[in-house]
Amino acid sequence: MAENNTQTERVGFVGIGNMGVPMSRHLKKAGFELTLYDVDSAAAKTCAEELGCQSVTSIKELAAASDIIITMLPTGHIVRQVMLEPAGDALADHLAAGSLLIDMSSSDPSGSKELGTLLAEKNVQFVDAPVSGGVNGAINGTLAIMLGGDDANAIERAKPVLSAMGTRIFETGPLGSGHAMKALNNSVTAAGFAAASEALIVGERFGLKPDVMVDIFNVSTGRNFSTELTIKNEVITGNFASGFALALLSKDVKIAADLALSLEMDMPLLAETNRRWLSALDDLGGDNDHTLAFTSWKNKTTQT
Ligand code: NAD
Repeated sequence: MAENNTQTERVGFVGIGNMGVPMSRHLKKAGFELTLYDVDSAAAKTCAEELGCQSVTSIKELAAASDIIITMLPTGHIVRQVMLEPAGDALADHLAAGSLLIDMSSSDPSGSKELGTLLAEKNVQFVDAPVSGGVNGAINGTLAIMLGGDDANAIERAKPVLSAMGTRIFETGPLGSGHAMKALNNSVTAAGFAAASEALIVGERFGLKPDVMVDIFNVSTGRNFSTELTIKNEVITGNFASGFALALLSKDVKIAADLALSLEMDMPLLAETNRRWLSALDDLGGDNDHTLAFTSWKNKTTQT
């Protein structure tokens, strides 16, 4: 794709990981003046060299080079740390008044609301814009984006940037609503993966072949995102390399379960899905690919 050089806003991208690398590639192609920052400065430098943009090693340099900041970090807690800590010398302290933060991480909605209040005191605009579509969606520039915010001007300002990375932008409502939607979406994905995993484990013990089972799910009513993609491509093949860490999916399910609790709602399937993923997290550690949860559940079943 040819680069277009008509963009006037300078974008600083924080979090050059599995998602951040391909997302920043699309921003560069769309013509944004781009600056990359990651606590792993080598990761930011390598990506910047590939894209032909700059990377920086300090928050202060990042702020000076950016009108809009995008965060694509593991958790909302880390987003708040980057923006607010240390007090007086954090990213939000160095940004010019009127700058915009777009948090595309899968963060917790209550933390995002609190962050919005604190950023407003520092004259920094804020929208939440988490994504769905995984690493492939990021590579193809086809992410679905859930855009929440209280400031109509900030929402409109974010759209040209978001359009470079995704094909569908849904306005979900007030600040934090994108993050709530994202967590609820992933709780459904996580439940689908767990349900299909259990069916495969039971079927295999009975004598069915897992690869044949998945092929049958995928032309039958049992199919879901996981049977079509992650279970078919990562579990059945033994690759276990979807690019989405166990810590991150477990975090999302917990955000959804905590959201239900905060609304004083009893949601037994959501609570059990949360327990299942936390048990895999406890067993395997968070750095492993989330698809390895299948092996944890299978091993525990075999032991009983
Ligand atoms: P990742 O772990 O690959 O990348 C995160 C990056 O953030 C790393 O490069 C890390 O060094 C950097 N980082 C961590 N702490 C930092 C700090 N304090 N300052 C600067 N940089 C810091 O994670 P990912 O898979 O790219 O996911 C990022 C976000 O996107 C998460 O919130 C995740 O839930 C969400 N998400 C991931 C996927 C996926 O398929 N991987 C899909 C949709 C949404």
